[in-house]
Amino acid sequence: MKIDLNTLLRPHILALKPYSSARDEYTGKEGIFLDANENPFGSITAENFNRYPDPYQQALKERISEIKGVSTDQLFLGNGSDEAIDLLFRAFCRPGVDQAILLPPTYGMYEVSAGINDVETVKVPLTPDFQLDTRAILKAITTTCKLLFICSPNNPSGNNMRREDMLFLINNFPGIVVVDEAYIDFSGELSFTIELPNHPNLLVIQTFSKAWGLASLRLGMAFASPEIIRILNKIKPPYNISGLTQQKVLEALGDLSQMRVMTKDILRERSYLEKELAEVSLVEKIYPSDANFLLIKVKEAKKTYDNLVDEKIIVRDRSKVLLCDECLRITVGTREENENLLKALKKSAE
Ligand SMILES: *Cc1c(COP(=O)(O)O)cnc(C)c1O
Repeated sequence: MKIDLNTLLRPHILALKPYSSARDEYTGKEGIFLDANENPFGSITAENFNRYPDPYQQALKERISEIKGVSTDQLFLGNGSDEAIDLLFRAFCRPGVDQAILLPPTYGMYEVSAGINDVETVKVPLTPDFQLDTRAILKAITTTCKLLFICSPNNPSGNNMRREDMLFLINNFPGIVVVDEAYIDFSGELSFTIELPNHPNLLVIQTFSKAWGLASLRLGMAFASPEIIRILNKIKPPYNISGLTQQKVLEALGDLSQMRVMTKDILRERSYLEKELAEVSLVEKIYPSDANFLLIKVKEAKKTYDNLVDEKIIVRDRSKVLLCDECLRITVGTREENENLLKALKKSAE
């Protein structure tokens, strides 16, 4: 859907004059830098971290753009994807006035981020098979609904949303549709980044925390039109991605083969777990997964969870979550971890 960003944005964000850092004022690389109040002697660590990092992460963005097939001005990097989610609320939702539409059961940070920003949410549950209830979503839309969050593959259900339903919503929602693809690398689906040229109201989120194995470095990506990316850049903290993170991720992106091997290994382990869990008597249902975790329905979720903790195996008890009665969410582990899990579940069933 076509949108007018000037009317969608909160007026004070539209008018805001952003912070100008030392690295905004002078962008050259050579010289004697006496402009940022850094320590000229170095750091107290073996490697030097005394200089502020590139505020716009140009080198890293060039490499990510190449891999993802987008241009650098369509890419925002955040301190985890959670930072991008928070900035979207701050940019578009007037506290106490505007709303975001959430589709539970889904990722809990959307609701928390809305709450932190004093933004109301409108909840439209997924259907019992965890798909989008497009008719109900359409009905829920009002002129103050600024954001719609679609998580695909969805956390905690693990499944892809139907692509045609997502496109229908992107075509009909008069605000920003956020498609959270944290688990896209485990799914057979193409990323919605290929839809960006046709949809100015689309923003796609991905992360280095899952398939890439870099959760500790805190790096998330948002892909959108250059106009939307400019807004996120305007309101982010100036040096939001640490120099260490920029350096380590750039190094890691030199060779993609290990990431591909690990992803394949996780998918192989997911099939193994699915097959073996089906043989465990207390497992009543294994939901189909397009992610690196499985949602399973068991006889007594709380008791099973506690029994697993006794065996030092920690899963996520999702039984209090809408449509997830008696459900546990289990991250796919290594073969050894998965075998231990299966053994503990069988013991719990005795
Ligand atoms: C794990 C996860 C993220 C990742 O968040 P980061 O802040 O990038 O670590 C984002 N969205 C969903 C749905 C997730 O499950």
